[in-house]
Amino acid sequence: MKIVFCAPHKDFQPWLDDIVANIPAAEVWSWSPPDEAQALRSDEPQADYALVWAPPTEFFSAQKNLKAVFTIGAGVDRLMKLPNPDGVPIVRLNDAGMAVQMAEYVCHALIRHTREFAAYEAQARHAEWTVRAPIDRAAWPVGVMGLGSIGARVAQAVAAFDYPTFGWSRTAKSLPGISTFAGTENLEKFLQSVRVLVCVLPLTHDTENILNFVTLSRLKPPGYLINVARGAHLVEADLLALIKTGAMSGAALDVFQTEPLPPDHPFWHHPEIRITPHSSAITLRKESVMQIAAKIYDLEQGRNIEGVVNQQVGY
Ligand code: NDP
Repeated sequence: MKIVFCAPHKDFQPWLDDIVANIPAAEVWSWSPPDEAQALRSDEPQADYALVWAPPTEFFSAQKNLKAVFTIGAGVDRLMKLPNPDGVPIVRLNDAGMAVQMAEYVCHALIRHTREFAAYEAQARHAEWTVRAPIDRAAWPVGVMGLGSIGARVAQAVAAFDYPTFGWSRTAKSLPGISTFAGTENLEKFLQSVRVLVCVLPLTHDTENILNFVTLSRLKPPGYLINVARGAHLVEADLLALIKTGAMSGAALDVFQTEPLPPDHPFWHHPEIRITPHSSAITLRKESVMQIAAKIYDLEQGRNIEGVVNQQVGY
């Protein structure tokens, strides 16, 4: 079995080593664009399976025999923009150790905000000993947009801290302890039920710019936003405008329209916006390769696998 790895900005050797450790019979190599002399040759080695992250456009025109393409991330938005090989399944990671990281991140951002930890830190800087009032959890309903491999875990973690928890997905879902809504027709009702909005949606045609002036204005005021999905979900100027009016109290943001966030971006120095550098859930190499190897074995045995992207809906 031949497996090609193509993730231009990653150190490829540990990935190749882990693939071989999980599939000892595999012949593996890292792909790079051929130079001009090689481009004239037609003997480019052809793989059965590819593991990719942000591959260059030429990659798929060079690899003609692929049986499946595995992304080494949960989101496939960048991959969906490339001309992908016809009829070849694209498979994304399911959790692979990212859901727990995301649950930690969201609970940290939520609890830091509701329990006023920033205010305690400010007090401590000038040795002030003042106990703040306990929170009324009923006043902090949390809504999670996206109830997939990651969003469901996030919603359950939030609910475990007894915050009233709501969830929104494309198709109907049932999760213990979570009040769920499905479809565009129920988006408004969902938003009106919540004060803290968490976005764990995939970025698709339907979800781009979904966090905008109109949707964020529907939250119970003052709303709070936690975006751990993709920067293009948020209309950044609308968030700033709503913080100015007091309709939103702030945001914890891990993802941005432009990454890295430009040094002169107003988010950097905004007192109500907390920033992390797209690190809320990081791909874990060993877990990811183990999951992909198991899926390759299943495909070879003719079994169905989880995580095949529906290219019509884009996730
Ligand atoms: P899944 O595909 O498992 O889940 C996606 C969820 O979003 C599903 O519940 C789906 O609904 C819902 N959804 C999709 N489109 C719509 C829509 N139009 N309206 C309402 N709901 C919708 O994805 P994951 O949970 O694995 O990952 C989610 C995203 O998180 C990834 O696409 C990625 O972009 C982002 N991510 C960000 C990371 C970071 O470091 N910042 C790290 C990892 C992931 P349904 O259940 O009905 O299909």
